[in-house]
Amino acid sequence: MKTPVPDYLNHVLSQCNSNDQGQLADYIPELASADPNKLAIALATIDGTIYSIGDDDTEFTIQSMSKPFAYALALKHHGISAVLAKVGVEPSGEAFNQISLDAKHKLPKNPMINSGAITTHSLIPVKKKVSRAEHLRRFLSELAGRELSFDEQVYQSELDTAFRNLSIGYMLRTVGVLEEDPIDIVHGYIHQCAIKVTVKDLANMASVLANGGLQAKTGKRILERDVARQVLSVMMTCGMYDAAGDWLTSVGIPAKSGVAGGIIGVLPGQVGLAVFSPKLDEHGNSARGIEIMEQLSQDMGLHLMEGTPSAQTIVQNRYQIGKRNAIVVYELRGVLQFTESEMLLRILQDEPASKNTIILDLTNISLIHNVGVKMLFEGVNRLKEDGHNVVVLDAEGILTEEQCKGRKRIVVKQDLQEYLKKVLKKDPK
Ligand code: GLN
Repeated sequence: MKTPVPDYLNHVLSQCNSNDQGQLADYIPELASADPNKLAIALATIDGTIYSIGDDDTEFTIQSMSKPFAYALALKHHGISAVLAKVGVEPSGEAFNQISLDAKHKLPKNPMINSGAITTHSLIPVKKKVSRAEHLRRFLSELAGRELSFDEQVYQSELDTAFRNLSIGYMLRTVGVLEEDPIDIVHGYIHQCAIKVTVKDLANMASVLANGGLQAKTGKRILERDVARQVLSVMMTCGMYDAAGDWLTSVGIPAKSGVAGGIIGVLPGQVGLAVFSPKLDEHGNSARGIEIMEQLSQDMGLHLMEGTPSAQTIVQNRYQIGKRNAIVVYELRGVLQFTESEMLLRILQDEPASKNTIILDLTNISLIHNVGVKMLFEGVNRLKEDGHNVVVLDAEGILTEEQCKGRKRIVVKQDLQEYLKKVLKKDPK
């Protein structure tokens, strides 16, 4: 059997093929010579599987889709509060290149518009031989899983007409948000926008954000969870500029567009998406790209506000074995967040006080949130107060060292069958 996902993507692509709305960006002269017919979609699951169709090997410049990743780098290096002292998180409701600051704080309103992105660029660490743009290129290459390069022609072309971004740079220098020569920073920012990508690269980058900063293919944690969450929140409220509200209601996922015609979208916990079609609407967002994203969101039920109900099956199996049935096994499965933890504790409430051994097996738990850890161990304490001996089996090591601290005698890193064999041998029927 062949998965129908590519056929579905092809269907979406052919449906919007006839849409010829929009204009090529021409304020960067080089972008005006792009082929307006190019069209591509890519989808990457959080386990690293990628589906792509259309002009999926065509490279184009990342432009403003670099902004969330530059923001991520700045957050990674300086921490959230230091970055917040330089760039706000409020949607501006203005065009991406508005020359404006937040009236009260005299800071750029958010990192997705140019004033905020130029500031964020200045927060990327710089070393002697590694410029900020080069630092970002390396970071994006890691996220994409291949070595990316700069489009020097687009870079040069934007430099030649960068008057508006330069005035934003001077404004930021005037109020002290930029502490260095604004020309260097603006040039660096423009270089960052000229990194070449395909939709596959973008979908891979988006899937790392969807996966809370963890890159499934390499198993590497590239961003901390709180950084990924911060980036996605800002994408959600500010990523589509003055069309953000329209986007949130009709598509409903964090996203970012670029003037070369790309859009990335992230459905947290599920998928990273990318589309490419160069003609733009009046907000500077890809016209066909928006149509595709709306279609995907509708068909695939991606809208965040629809929410994903909890699977409601935290206890996969409960049974009693051993002498006098004094060993009670709870095989847990799924995700342990607040809803599931509450359900588990409600079920555990029915365990009558006794000297039984209660085994909570985490082997089939795929994700455990901090609140899940807290509630689980609170349940363990209360079961112990009722006289039980409690063991948490963590064969897959889903709990971190930190979370196991002080609980060495409760958490056993052993497989359920092995563990049961051992205790039943000690205490046969
Ligand atoms: N390099 C472009 C600019 O700064 C990026 C804008 C965009 O993609 N919206 O104007």
